[in-house]
Amino acid sequence: MENTNPFLVERMQAHRTSIFGRMSGLANEFGAINLGQGFPDTDGPEFVRQAAIDAISAGRGNQYPPVHGVPELRQAIASHQQSFYDMDVDWQTEVVVTTGASEALQSTFLALIEPGDEVLIFEPWFDIYQTGVALARGITVGVPMDPETLRPNVSELESRITSRSKVLLLNSPHNPTGIVFTRTELQTIAATAIKHNLIVVSDEAYQHIWFDNHAHIPIATLEGMHDRTVTIGSAGKSFSFTGWKVGWAIGPSELIAAVRTVRQHLTYVSSGPFQWAIAEGLQLEDSYWSEFRTEMQAKRDLLSSGLSHLGYRVIPSEGTYFVCTDIRPLGYFSGTEFCETLIREHGVAAIPLSGLSGNASTYNHFVRWAFCKKPEVLNDALSRLAKKTVT
Ligand SMILES: *Cc1c(COP(=O)(O)O)cnc(C)c1O
Repeated sequence: MENTNPFLVERMQAHRTSIFGRMSGLANEFGAINLGQGFPDTDGPEFVRQAAIDAISAGRGNQYPPVHGVPELRQAIASHQQSFYDMDVDWQTEVVVTTGASEALQSTFLALIEPGDEVLIFEPWFDIYQTGVALARGITVGVPMDPETLRPNVSELESRITSRSKVLLLNSPHNPTGIVFTRTELQTIAATAIKHNLIVVSDEAYQHIWFDNHAHIPIATLEGMHDRTVTIGSAGKSFSFTGWKVGWAIGPSELIAAVRTVRQHLTYVSSGPFQWAIAEGLQLEDSYWSEFRTEMQAKRDLLSSGLSHLGYRVIPSEGTYFVCTDIRPLGYFSGTEFCETLIREHGVAAIPLSGLSGNASTYNHFVRWAFCKKPEVLNDALSRLAKKTVT
C-alpha cells in the first residue's frame, strides 16, 4: 500500500482510504451517476421535515438535550419496537439515542471489546465495522458469505470461534449483499451465540427496507437472545433523512448502561431538534412503512431487471438499498477494475464488493449497485450502461 501517515496511529494506517471515497472521487471527476454511495435522492416525509422545523422554531432541542436522548423519542422507539416486533423495551433504561447508527456501533464496540477480543462479522461487510473494531483494539474475524449466492454460511460460524470470541456482529437486512437472514439462519446464529456466550450486536439500520415476503426479524426476539443482544437502528435509513444522524441502541439495561457510559463521552448529545422530529415520525401510521417499502421495491425491480437484461447475473435483493451482480457473464473478473472502467467509459459508479471484505479475491466478481434513486436516474444509468458494452 501507499506510504504511511507518520501522525496516524498504527491500527488505523490500513484504513486511510475507503472504497467509497475512491469511487466517489472518480465519479465526480467523470461526472458519473453515483450508484455507489447509498443515500436516497428523495427526502423523507414532509410531515417529519415540518416537525423538525417546528422543533427548531419552538426551541425544542436547540440546547443540549438529555444525555441519553429526549424522553419523547426514547418512548417512541420503545413503542415502535413493541408494535412491530412485540418487544418489551423500557424506555428509561433500555434505550440510548445516538449520532446515527454509526455512533451506536462505535460506542458499543468501545464499550464491550477489550484489546485482543475477537469480533465475528459476516463478510463482505459494511466498512465501518472493521475500523470500529480496530479502534477498540479488537480483532475482526470474517465469516464468509457464499461466493456464489451471497447467503451467510451460518454453519461455518462454529469453526471460527475461539476462547477470545466475544461479540458477533449481525446485520440484516444486510449491506452490501441485500440478503435478509431467514428465521432458520437466525436460529443457528442464536444457538451458536448462546452456546459460546457471545454478545450479539445486531445492526438493523434497514429494518423497514425489506421486499416481497422477506420480513425483517430482530434476533433479540428469538428465545434466549434478549439478554445478550444490542439492537441498533437508524432513523436516517428508516425515514430517508440520512443527514440528520439520529440512531439508537436498544438492549437489556446492563448492556445499554455500558454503551451509554462510552457514548456520553464521545458526542455527549446530538441532533437536538431532529430527535423531536423522529419521535413524531415513529408515530406515523403503518401505511407509511408499507408505502415506503413498495416504492423502494419498484426501484429495486427497475434496476435489477435492467441489469439482468444487460447480461449481469443478479443476486436477488431481499432488502436494503442495494442489489449485487456477478460481472463474470460480461467477461470481467476484477470488480475494482470493472468499476473504474464503468465510471470512465459509461459514466456510472458502483462499488466492488472486494473493497468491503478482508478477503478481496473471494468477492472480486461482485459489484454493488444502489437503487435508492429516482426512477429517471436509474433509467438514465441503465441507458448509459447499455450504450457501449464493457467487453
Ligand atoms: C448506513 C448504515 C449505517 C449507519 O447509519 P447512520 O444512521 O447513518 O449512522 C449502519 N449500518 C448499516 C448497515 C448502514 O448501511
